[in-house]
Amino acid sequence: ASLSHQCGRLTPIVRASQSSTERSYVMIKPDGVQRGLVGEIISRFERKGFTIKGLKLFSCPAALAEEHYKDLSSKPFYPKLVKYITSGPVVCLALEGPGVVASARKLIGVTNPLQAEPGTIRGDLGIETGRNVIHGSDSPENGEREIALWFKEGELCEWEPTLTPWLRE
Ligand code: ADP
Repeated sequence: ASLSHQCGRLTPIVRASQSSTERSYVMIKPDGVQRGLVGEIISRFERKGFTIKGLKLFSCPAALAEEHYKDLSSKPFYPKLVKYITSGPVVCLALEGPGVVASARKLIGVTNPLQAEPGTIRGDLGIETGRNVIHGSDSPENGEREIALWFKEGELCEWEPTLTPWLRE
């Protein structure tokens, strides 16, 4: 079989006995995509050292946005939130690494970009809660729940970067 259509074979696959498999669902919201911030944002997670296991540009149906944010369904801003998330394509990311959930939340910054620390994604790139550029799972359980919600079977890549020994002892 030719390698050309089987990208997975070009990368050595290390089944990860030594690697933490914690995963976070991170999503660049429609404002981040429209503002051309996709590269800038993904670059921050890559440079930090987390592994991208899933990545896609996606137009989210309302039912999925409603399900994703169902815990907020009683909030007054919920209808606007669903409209915002479905207003244009989002970029869906499944990130993996030790402590990735809490670390991604730190890199992202607090919900209101005006209160988010400079140096964080929201602190550097936004001014309003209703246009806060990015989502990150708030617990490892929700990381798994959200990855299962946003990615279909076969859309995640099982791979280990060759740089891992330079990131982790
Ligand atoms: P986070 O995204 O920081 O985990 P929440 O889970 O509290 O924050 O809220 C989910 C999303 O709902 C926020 O990222 C933001 O887009 C939106 N949101 C939260 N609070 C408000 C608000 N008061 N007004 C408008 N949108 C809000």
